[in-house]
Amino acid sequence: DRKQLHALVGLPARTRDDVTITLSANIELPRDAQVATDLNAAGVGLLRTEFMFMNRDDLPTEEEQYATLSGMVDAMAGKVVTIRTLDLGGDKIAAALGGRFAEIANPALGLRAIRLSLKEPKLLEAQLAAILRAGAHGPIRVLLPMITTIGEIRTVKAALDRTMRRLRRRKVPVPAAMPPLGVMIEVPGAALIADALAREVDFFAIGTNDLVMYTLAADRGDESVAHLYDPLHTSVLRLVQFTVEAALRARIPVSVCGEIAGDPRFTALLVGLGIRDLSMAPLRLLEVKRRILTLDSVAAARRARMMLDQTDSGRIAALLDDFNEGG
Ligand code: PEP
Ligand code: MG
Repeated sequence: DRKQLHALVGLPARTRDDVTITLSANIELPRDAQVATDLNAAGVGLLRTEFMFMNRDDLPTEEEQYATLSGMVDAMAGKVVTIRTLDLGGDKIAAALGGRFAEIANPALGLRAIRLSLKEPKLLEAQLAAILRAGAHGPIRVLLPMITTIGEIRTVKAALDRTMRRLRRRKVPVPAAMPPLGVMIEVPGAALIADALAREVDFFAIGTNDLVMYTLAADRGDESVAHLYDPLHTSVLRLVQFTVEAALRARIPVSVCGEIAGDPRFTALLVGLGIRDLSMAPLRLLEVKRRILTLDSVAAARRARMMLDQTDSGRIAALLDDFNEGG
């Protein structure tokens, strides 16, 4: 089976009816970049930058972040690398910022991700400078985690402009044009204003791990509520559908980069909902590609509509599993 899967490395991810699906990699550590290129990922759809801040007592400098990120951009050899700003807080804590989190009663609803970055402008600007400088090594995109308001996006845009001007003034190599800016759609409130957010940014990345958690109020790491953590819940499907439609109308790309993007059980559903970009752990790329090769996108869209018409989660799951078995 592994050999058979490996034979797919060089094949394009195209459905039976000739729809090309872009399969990119989620990357958490520098060494993942090599695996991603070996498996012929289209690019990096999500570079999680938290690893640079974990397991240490101090904060990484701009230089250090630049060295690490530019190495990863180099390793991807001209493929687009989507670099996400820091997503600390919630389940991801860095010792150097530990004090910031000590008093938070509700970490998932507190000072997490972009909220922390906006509260610590020096931290944000050092990271943006490192990202922009890495962009001199190859094509990059900038991705913001846990956005809930348009104001957050505008504040980051101003910081990006300021940082770009400062680097240029100092003759530090940066890209000729500002890299595309996108947001994670991972909070229901963001999904429900996707039409407005689409006018502010160049792309969306739907983070279903958190979107499911926040929509259903079920902690993604809590076993005792795992039975409620359901990516097939009608509310989640509706939020994804609304987000995809807003992106299509605004003509901006939209990807899914949560764990379900790397699970072939969900591929038909996501393609059926109109998703053409999936980003996943590198080791999932070939299994998802194999599913795409057997898929008919029109039939998948019809099945997704049937699933959206249901509210019973058992029935929705049965519709998906039946479709996957060729029914
Ligand atoms: C997500 O929430 O789906 C996501 C991709 O981000 P993370 O898992 O890093 O929170
Ligand atoms: Mg997330």
